[in-house]
Amino acid sequence: MALASESTQLSTSSTLSLFTKVINFPMSSTSPPTFVCDFADDELPSEDWPEMEFRSPEDKDQAWYGVEPWDMCDSLVVSFNEFPCAYDEVYSPEDFKNSDELKEFEERFRPTSVQMQDSQCPTVNEGTKVCATCPSVTGEVKFYDAIVVAVERTEHGRDEEGSEVCGCNFKVFWNQGPCANLVTSAKVGDICLKREDGRMHPKVVSFFKEARRQLHGGSSQGEETEWQKMLKRVNAAVQNYNISSSVPDNLG
Ligand SMILES: [Zn+2]
Repeated sequence: MALASESTQLSTSSTLSLFTKVINFPMSSTSPPTFVCDFADDELPSEDWPEMEFRSPEDKDQAWYGVEPWDMCDSLVVSFNEFPCAYDEVYSPEDFKNSDELKEFEERFRPTSVQMQDSQCPTVNEGTKVCATCPSVTGEVKFYDAIVVAVERTEHGRDEEGSEVCGCNFKVFWNQGPCANLVTSAKVGDICLKREDGRMHPKVVSFFKEARRQLHGGSSQGEETEWQKMLKRVNAAVQNYNISSSVPDNLG
């Protein structure tokens, strides 16, 4: 599914600029003279786009990574933050055979989880879903989804600067990753909290819109389209034709 396309060798910023136009207002205008706007998705100014994280595919480590999604023609390019563009992954709307595959891929994107703060400890309880670093034999810091199953609370202290310090022990059950189905201990520094903000990056939204359109032959959601009904009739006709044409060969 992930293609190492040559075109991904372009740097994200230089490619993004292809899709970005600078508008110059006439000098007589009282408005600010220049601003940059992206015509591909003009619902949100770029600074309001939520940062995204992406769960890497089954054939990789399946960990969550901060990413910058951008579009290249109809394809969605996923650039991994802090990784060179050689690691970019390119997905085409045609990569998905059915709605389940598409949904599975869609669930790999979400707004970036944020590092838990010591003062947020009281909000983290049994049942809180988190994204946390999994104890790793290789020492690599990778993030996977887990759920808090118990909290061993201790009284919070203060550091030299007077900031609150949480030393509590969070027992987490791992949904994913090398510790999947195990319970291990985590500290505040190991835990990121999921964002309430469910907004998706507009590039991701428009990619899924297009992929769904292609999958359903132009319909917006699930419903069988006229085209699909027609296809069924065509398929049935072809089958009938095959049956009726499978007459003995020795007729002539
Ligand atoms: Zn605590």
